[in-house]
Amino acid sequence: MEDQTTEKTGTGKHSDGAAGMLIKAALEARKNAYCPYSGFAVGAALLCADGSVWSGCNIENVAFTPGNCAERTAFFKAVCEGKREFSAIAIVGGKADAEKLEFCPPCGVCRQVMREFCRNNFRIILAVSEKEYQVFTLGELLPLSFGPEQLGGDPDTCVK
Ligand SMILES: [Zn+2]
Repeated sequence: MEDQTTEKTGTGKHSDGAAGMLIKAALEARKNAYCPYSGFAVGAALLCADGSVWSGCNIENVAFTPGNCAERTAFFKAVCEGKREFSAIAIVGGKADAEKLEFCPPCGVCRQVMREFCRNNFRIILAVSEKEYQVFTLGELLPLSFGPEQLGGDPDTCVK
């Protein structure tokens, strides 16, 4: 990652303002991260096609496996409230006591959850601040993916 200050990709669908707003929401959600075991706090903010924003943080558990990532927390909150179409997600993460955040890519499980509801052009904004971020597409971060259409689902109806 040489140039971490500019957008790597972009569909032009969202302005920098939208990215900044999402990153701000992700940073706010990160404050609620429950991470007593790893000390690694993550926040996410998911933008729906209708303009609504759903935040999430990581939620750890003493038994480890029941824990949940920030990205999936945001997705599950939104899906539970009836949302099915998504445009972008901003993700921020790093050690809870770190002075500066690091770029925090989504784990494989979260990428697969995104694939369930999103097209390849879904934007994933990895940020360390409101001004310093990179934008990837889901297609870039999860190439040759297994999606709903593999089980006979119509990709247009699967995400509705
Ligand atoms: Zn994850």
